[in-house]
Amino acid sequence: MSRLHPIVAIDGPAGAGKSSVAREVAKALGYVLVDTGALYRGLALAARERGIAWTDGPALGTLADALELHFEVSDDGPLLHIDGVNRADDIRSPDVSEGASQVSAHPAVRNALLGIQRRLGAEGGVVLEGRDIGTVVFPDAEVKFFLTASPEERARRRVQDLEGRGVVANFDEVLASIRVRDDRDSAREVAPLKPASDATELDSTELQRDEVVATIVAAVAEHLGR
Ligand code: C5P
Repeated sequence: MSRLHPIVAIDGPAGAGKSSVAREVAKALGYVLVDTGALYRGLALAARERGIAWTDGPALGTLADALELHFEVSDDGPLLHIDGVNRADDIRSPDVSEGASQVSAHPAVRNALLGIQRRLGAEGGVVLEGRDIGTVVFPDAEVKFFLTASPEERARRRVQDLEGRGVVANFDEVLASIRVRDDRDSAREVAPLKPASDATELDSTELQRDEVVATIVAAVAEHLGR
């Protein structure tokens, strides 16, 4: 069945600017925005609070099935609720970033979170931001982009982002953690971070955010035949 409006997949490594680009693209098109990384973050947070280790794949898979994860729509983007409680701020700490990266390597976790991502996106008219949207979650997405930027530029942006949230961050530590997460995301056996063969790759190191947004919006317009 063809969709009236496309699924827009925006994948790429941590700090490539996916979140703000995805937010602007969704706003410009009037599409729903799904932040798939928030699901992995929410699971890492919930696991820590229940004393489940981030290395325990089977227990994490069971927990992911049991949690009620949903997004509240807001002007600041989608806000993750876990079992009815808004945890959008709690999932942004550097500690939870590390946890999300660890829990996301387990096949049981990826399987458990696949269903919810597909439900949220199936009807189209949606922008999904993540690592494996174009390769695994929606290989049939009509519009696929893979955003990159140099590790240094990504670390700079992440520090700025954290400081904007009132979190003090050290550039070298953030850069080191980005490198660790990149390696883990790229090396894992299930759904490793890599561009889909039919994705358009954009290196945003030298591009302004507005240019990236305009490129993606134009691709959607072209898909719609406008
Ligand atoms: O994008 P964000 O930094 O919030 O993602 C947190 C972690 O979740 C990433 O480091 C990555 O390991 C994982 N992730 C994933 N697949 C996705 C989205 C995020 O493995 N689709």
